[in-house]
Amino acid sequence: MNEKKTGGFYLTTPIYYVNDVPHIGHAYTTIACDALARWHRMRGDVTRFLTGVDEHGQKIEQAAEKRGMTPIQLCDEVVINFRRLWKVLNISNDDFIRTTEDRHIEVVQYFFSSLLKKGDIYKGSYEGWYCVPCETYVPEGQIGDDHLCPDCKRPLTRMSEESYFFRLSKYQDALIKHYEERPDAIMPRARYNEVMSFIKSGLQDLSISRTTLKWGIPVPGDERHVVYVWLDALINYISALGYPKPGELWETHWPSVRHMVGKDIIRFHAVIWPAILMAIGANPPVRVFAHGWWTVEGDKMSKSKGNVVDPFEMAALYGTDAFRYFVLREVPFGNDGDFSESGLMHRINSDLANDMGNLLNRTLQMIEKYRDSRLPADSALDRANSLDDTLRDLAIKTLGDMDSEMDNFALDSALKTLWVLVGAGNKYIDDTEPWKLGREGSGDRLDVVLRTLWDALRLSAILAYPFIPDTAQRIWQQLGLPGEVSGAGHQSWRWGKTDSPVTVKKGDVLFPRLDAAKWGEEKAARDEAKQAALRGESGAPAPQAEKFAQIGIDDFKKLEIRVAKIEKAEPVDKADKLYKLYLDLGFEKRVIVSGIREFYKPEELVGKKILVLCNLKPAKFRGIESRGMLLAAEANESGRDLISLAAVDDDFPVGALVH
Ligand SMILES: [Zn+2]
Repeated sequence: MNEKKTGGFYLTTPIYYVNDVPHIGHAYTTIACDALARWHRMRGDVTRFLTGVDEHGQKIEQAAEKRGMTPIQLCDEVVINFRRLWKVLNISNDDFIRTTEDRHIEVVQYFFSSLLKKGDIYKGSYEGWYCVPCETYVPEGQIGDDHLCPDCKRPLTRMSEESYFFRLSKYQDALIKHYEERPDAIMPRARYNEVMSFIKSGLQDLSISRTTLKWGIPVPGDERHVVYVWLDALINYISALGYPKPGELWETHWPSVRHMVGKDIIRFHAVIWPAILMAIGANPPVRVFAHGWWTVEGDKMSKSKGNVVDPFEMAALYGTDAFRYFVLREVPFGNDGDFSESGLMHRINSDLANDMGNLLNRTLQMIEKYRDSRLPADSALDRANSLDDTLRDLAIKTLGDMDSEMDNFALDSALKTLWVLVGAGNKYIDDTEPWKLGREGSGDRLDVVLRTLWDALRLSAILAYPFIPDTAQRIWQQLGLPGEVSGAGHQSWRWGKTDSPVTVKKGDVLFPRLDAAKWGEEKAARDEAKQAALRGESGAPAPQAEKFAQIGIDDFKKLEIRVAKIEKAEPVDKADKLYKLYLDLGFEKRVIVSGIREFYKPEELVGKKILVLCNLKPAKFRGIESRGMLLAAEANESGRDLISLAAVDDDFPVGALVH
């Protein structure tokens, strides 16, 4: 039994760039943090889990301009994508911060002023090669003769500007000492070594303001400058705790802060950020952990290849827990990994349906059949033999092993450890052959076996909870346990612990097995549809088609659509959107009322040959009988309504039928 004292655990994801379309990378970081946060909450640590979005910078400014919106309007619109995804993926964050919130802006400005006063920020001038899309100056050493950005491969611009600098060089020795004393403050080890050699190679002062963009947090007292987006973003970790106001959030959580990041942003978090924290007199992060990147079926993920893994789609197709399980189990946490749907399908069938699902199913079936769903009492365990003891000992060892694996953020190892217990549970059934005991009437022995299995499952549900929370709760309920598995405090992490008589309630199968052949066909069809959309889209995202019910040709034939010429367009009194249109259909004249006044002037309409649905039931608008309806395409772009009349060539005869 693990008797470690509880502690504090404040965990953050990076803040995601708000205009990104959320993909597996965002999902992975956040799911990993969620599993860790749930683990620590459950074991009684004072836990806080923060995620959020980065809303400032040139790219947002440009994207908003393109869409005819203000930057904040764009942010307000797209932030929903992240909020929705976290809901779908069952993310238990305690807070969600946006860098455009007042609580954040105030802290950034406070922070800037106090470091300026202290002399750790000073004004100078900066000149260098700048990448506009990446919003960063690229160091000379990383630039080739082509003068392209090493990250995005686009041309760099030579720029010079007045800038504020942070005295990063001053903290070089302090950083080296800090990390020499705390070798696990950066994980995995390869990242620690990388950061240490970077620091030792010499740190230069860091430009932390820009005059080249407007969409950012103004430098207090010098508003031509905005705070460099990277600094702005890093500060979210402390502004979300209400720094510098003395308060419970800051005092409780900051001392235990751990940052989860992708390996591409390790330097910001393990070099710049700790130095800045030292400058303001706060402790550097207890740990910065950098996880790896995903490829997709062996390929780099890219929009143009159409292989970007959409976490919404994966959760919808396979279920949130299966997706969570797969990404956490598949790859040693910290390494790069490869995502494949066939891998996901196999893990569902083997680990989830076969191993975990069967253990629960077999156990409950036997308790139902031989004991009328009533669990034998704790005391049955007093008669355990060596087979039973082995499973019990393994379960107890699993608790301790997973605790230390989770301390090291070794999420994949923790899951492997748990599945060893699950496998041992299934083997225990094969070894003890409870169905024979049932037939032979060996009542005492059967009690011990059923009780042992049930207990192994109870502990498995607790230990699985941080990773697959919904499934763990379903197991919990089927085992006949009251309340929430999340509330199973550390004191229940022991063998043979139940307070009251238990009746099991077998429910639905945890994970239905996927039929590999059928799955293959469906996957091929989905891939084909995606590639078709890609071919049709030429760079722009495929428009979301509205869904309509299918109709037969006979349904369509009921529509009488004809070519009509507009002879006159009269504004309708007291209805600023309506025209009274006089139409010539060749064989007759008629009047229709139409709401297109804000889109066309009368002179633009007269003489036009349009399409009219003629056999629509007549209706009255403002006392005018309207007989028919004109056809028009309708759209909304950047918040503006657009209308285009369906028309035919000028010399086409009126009255003609449309098929
Ligand atoms: Zn670039």
